[in-house]
Formats: sequence, structure tokens, C-alpha cells
Amino acid sequence: MPQEKKPMLSFQQALAQLLEAVSCHQQVQHVPLSQALGRVLAEDMQSPLQIPAYTNAAMDGYAFCYADVASSKTFQLIGQSLAGHPYQGELTPGCCIRIMTGAKLPPGLDTVVMQEQVKLTEEGKVQLCTEPQMGEHVRLAGSEIAKEATVLRRGERLGPLQLGLAATLGFAELPVYQRLKVGVMSTGDELVAPGLVLGDGQLYDSNRFVIGAMLQRLDVELVDYGWIADDPVLLKAAFDQAASEVDALVTSGGVSVGDADYTRQVLLELGQVNFWQVAMKPGKPFAFGKLGHCWFFGLPGNPVSAVMTLDQLAQPALRKLAGETCKTPLQLPALVSRKFRKKPGRLDFQRGVLSMTDGQLQVAPVAIDSSGMLSSLLAADCLVPLALESADIEAGERVQVQLLSDWLR
Ligand code: AMP
Ligand code: MG
Repeated sequence: MPQEKKPMLSFQQALAQLLEAVSCHQQVQHVPLSQALGRVLAEDMQSPLQIPAYTNAAMDGYAFCYADVASSKTFQLIGQSLAGHPYQGELTPGCCIRIMTGAKLPPGLDTVVMQEQVKLTEEGKVQLCTEPQMGEHVRLAGSEIAKEATVLRRGERLGPLQLGLAATLGFAELPVYQRLKVGVMSTGDELVAPGLVLGDGQLYDSNRFVIGAMLQRLDVELVDYGWIADDPVLLKAAFDQAASEVDALVTSGGVSVGDADYTRQVLLELGQVNFWQVAMKPGKPFAFGKLGHCWFFGLPGNPVSAVMTLDQLAQPALRKLAGETCKTPLQLPALVSRKFRKKPGRLDFQRGVLSMTDGQLQVAPVAIDSSGMLSSLLAADCLVPLALESADIEAGERVQVQLLSDWLR
């Protein structure tokens, strides 16, 4: 097979090839705000209003004209402005009005003093007990958002704050990309569904649940293809079905070089293998390709390898397919408090535990670690990507750490 002769890609090359290959072709639909959580915005949104829409009070108190303070610190109270009920009357020199938080400031008044900082005189006047600042406790119209400003951008994932901002601007619905339809499938003769009795040499299929849950966090329409035996005929049938039904298929297992590893062979026969094998750890036998119109992400079977390749390689590609603008994960500098063992040759995403000592972020490897142990990932709160050429990292050296993202937790 010609693909086998290709040299192994570095992690960076693999990620670049993935992102180069995929693009978003999802249709645009308009959904009410109440159904938009987690969706990807399909258009830039310009503000139809300025925010605040009108100048208003930031405190409960009294509004007056700052220029009047020069002549007197006692004001004639002539009315009130409540939220939703602006003051409609005329203003006279030296007057003030009672005003509540969020209520409109009448044109001509420019400063608000808190009610705790005035005395009401027996004649019903308002006497300042403070030296006010010009414009104090006033939110100026347009000071947060100018009319026509771009407030939300195409490719943004809509979270609670984006939805709140959209509501602030009066949008009842938003244009979003249609959800990506993604299939998940486990392969391996040894696998048994949780709930059934384990036979000799069998283990429970955990990958499908981890992968499925991670994909749900990406807000995809998930199709569960269950478990398929290590049998090329059955794999072909399953891949064929998935190719006609979903935009992307994520499999786990059977993608290495073992005698019962048929995933790549079947992918080659039915579609194309863009690349196979990446110089990363865990996760070397990752395969990326296509079945007709369906993108194919073949994750290794080892539970930590499956999670890491989904997190680091498939995830950015799936986000791009869904229309989302990809962000590079934030890296933080940390001091190594216990040695990380590492052989040169692959980019190693080690699992780390963070601590703070004397204001310094420190990181140590998780106590028990192996690409087969899902519990090692549960114990970690960050990844420590150690460069391909790097060897052991001793205590006292500095590394960059990447916090485990929310979609994994
Ligand atoms: P493979 O990539 O098929 O060679 O599998 C590598 C290791 O991962 C083997 O120990 C498998 O038993 C294990 N494995 C494969 N698929 C799963 C799965 N769905 N859930 C849990 N472990 C798995
Ligand atoms: Mg297998």
C-alpha cells in the first residue's frame, strides 16, 4: 500500500493537514435565542442600537446639572425619573430630580449623587453632603456599544454571555450553522457493552461513551453506530452505512499494525487515507481520511490515546467543519516539581498535576500513567506537551502547560 511508505508526520504537520483539508459547508438556519446555546454563529452581527440606548443613572439618588454646584449645593426637587418612566417635565436652574438606577437622565442633567450622600431639608430641598464629580454615577448613551459596531462574529460558539448580548441588542433569533452530524463507532472483538457479562479476555467498551460525550459537548448531532467486530466485511458494511448518513465518522481501535487491525485497510478500499500515523504520544496510529463525502477520524483504541487524538487532532477539524473559528489552546509557563520521563522522537502530551507554591505555578506528572489508563487522565488537570526532540525534563526546569479544556471535563 503506497500510504505505508509515507514518512510519519509531526503533530504540527498532521494538524495543519487536517485544517487545510476541511472546510465548513453547513447550511445556515435561524433559531430562536432559547435554542441557540452551543450553536455556531453563521454571520457577523452588527448592533442595531447604541448601548446604553439612553443616558441613565448608575445609582439610586438625585440627578442635577453639575454647573449648578458652583452657585449652590442645595437643589430644588422638581420630580422623579424611574426605570421605564422617564421624567417628562421642564427643568429649571438649580433643580434636581429623584432618580433610580437605570432610569433615563433628562437632557440638561449630567450628574447623579447617591441618595446616601444627600440630606433632605425641611423645605423639601436636596442638600449635597459630598463634593460630586462631573458626570458621576451616569452611564452615557453608547458608552458600551456604538450603533453598527460588530458585536458577535461568524464562527463564534454561542454561550450564555453571547446569548445575553444578543438579547441586549434585541435579536430574537440568530443565524447559526446547521449542526454537524457525526457518527461514533468502536471496533474490537474483545469489546462488550457495559451492562452485559464479561467473558474471558473481554473488556467493556468505554471509548464510545467518552468519545460520544466529548462530541455532545461540541453540540453535534450524534449517531451511535455501536460496536463492530474485527472483521473487514462487517467493517466495510458499517463504514458504508455511516458514509451515507453522517458528515464525519469517529472510530476507535483497529487502526494500528496488529493482525486484527483492519480499519485503515477498509478505509483505503472504500475511500481515501489522507494520512496515517503521527509522531505524537499517546496516539501514534491516528488515521485521517474520507469515505465519499464523510470525513473519517480513526482514533487508536487505547483509551487515553483515543481521548488525546480526539482532543488534539480531530476536535479542531470538527470545529472547523462545524463553522467554528479555531482558537489555539492557551499555554501557561510552569516550574517542574518532579521529573517528567521522556524519550526523543514524538511530541508527548504528558498528563500533569498543577499546584501553586509561593505564587509559582508548579507541575508534576500524574502518579500512575499509561495510554491504556483512563484514570490517569482523570487525575490530571493539565497537559504538558513535551517537544518531539526533548528528552527527560528534570525538576526545576520550566515547561508550558495546557489546561484540560472544559469539553473534556
Ligand atoms: P487497538 O487500537 O484496537 O489495537 O486497541 C488498543 C487497546 O485499546 C487494546 O487494549 C484494546 O482492548 C483497547 N480498546 C480498544 N477499543 C476500546 C474501547 N472501545 N474501549 C476500551 N478499550 C478499548
Ligand atoms: Mg483492536
